[in-house]
Amino acid sequence: MKIETKCIQSGYTPENGEPRVLPIYQSTTWKYASTEQMGKLFDLEESGYFYTRLANPTNDAVAAKIADLEGGVAAMLTSSGQAACFYSIFNICEAGGHFVCSSSVYGGTFNMFGVTLKKLGIDVTFVDPDASEEELNAAFRENTKAVFGETIANPALVVLDIEKWAKVAHAHKVPLIIDNTFATPINCRPFEWGADIVVHSTTKYMDGHATSVGGCVVDSGNFDWEASGKFPGLTTPDESYHGITYTKKFGKAAYITKLTAQVMRDLGSIPSPHNAFLLNLGLETLALRMERHCSNAQAVAEFLEKDPRVSWVKYCGLESDKYHALANKYLPNGSCGVISFGVKGGREAAVKFMDSLKLAAIVTHVADARTSVLHPASHTHRQLSDAELEAAGVTPDLIRFSVGIENVQDIIDDIDQALYAASK
Ligand SMILES: *Cc1c(COP(=O)(O)O)cnc(C)c1O
Repeated sequence: MKIETKCIQSGYTPENGEPRVLPIYQSTTWKYASTEQMGKLFDLEESGYFYTRLANPTNDAVAAKIADLEGGVAAMLTSSGQAACFYSIFNICEAGGHFVCSSSVYGGTFNMFGVTLKKLGIDVTFVDPDASEEELNAAFRENTKAVFGETIANPALVVLDIEKWAKVAHAHKVPLIIDNTFATPINCRPFEWGADIVVHSTTKYMDGHATSVGGCVVDSGNFDWEASGKFPGLTTPDESYHGITYTKKFGKAAYITKLTAQVMRDLGSIPSPHNAFLLNLGLETLALRMERHCSNAQAVAEFLEKDPRVSWVKYCGLESDKYHALANKYLPNGSCGVISFGVKGGREAAVKFMDSLKLAAIVTHVADARTSVLHPASHTHRQLSDAELEAAGVTPDLIRFSVGIENVQDIIDDIDQALYAASK
């Protein structure tokens, strides 16, 4: 099946007489006839549902759809994108461990990795996303367990050279984890370029309607944990699960099974089945919406680029953009609907522009059907120092503009009148 069909059909196939639409299993628990049967489930000897923290049919169907869209073997939903990013690292990197991360990532991720994971004894080295192979190599240590980056960084809109980062990660026998939130699997499937694990904040385009915070971790099944020798948590018996060795028992699904059976069991950041249901509705139209987001954003970016009241525009769909060549390679059908630009007059003009918009709403959110706008220096990134802002590619005049799927002329007219107000 092609990806547009998968958006609609994957994950749930009703049997004769079953509901056509994925049902919401709003139940914490499942009933069994015997103690023995239930025991086998706890030992992971039989598959079946018993408690929603570990598995729920609604959540599983939606995870299976996302795994199919990404071309992975399996996926697990989480209650938020933050939880997905945390779990993806914590599943393979514990106290005393270290990982390498692109310095151009979502502000929440940057803070979690740089501050909160440090408190847990996990160290990170941030590396410029445009770093050469030598510079990337220099960031590795004996205890490095993973490499992390974003396909299209939020909000800096840097396109990562996934193939290069995967090559370096693999040379050091560790997996590459890619946050594919902004591109979505419609526009880029990082596994096709060598990434091993994909994470999402499904809160953004996947949900697409700003109804539900959520996340997802997808396993490609391609990383050879045994050959690496760096991941005893996957390749030696887990005493907390009756001595199961994940790689032996689950093969290509070792990482995702450990993530579910151990990390989710113990930390519990599951989505509600109702939220998973809403996410599934969003996924059904993802391919259609991404097409419109991208064509609208391209027109808005071209308008901004020509406008003398705008000092700079970043959108990898523009030929003038630093990342246009990488976008042609990794995002040939379009990137995303998010544009960043600077209003002439710096921070003050940027705030005036924001406050003058009528259609575009000031919200913390990005990447949903409605056009929305944010000033990262005063919102998402406000806890970062100026130096950290610089490293994250966020300047004080940066406006993050998330182009929705409304009529594009209405969006451009709104920007035009707000630029007029800001230039007065
Ligand atoms: C929003 C976002 C996150 C965090 O996701 P939440 O769902 O808000 O917890 C992580 N990565 C990227 C790229 C994001 O845009």
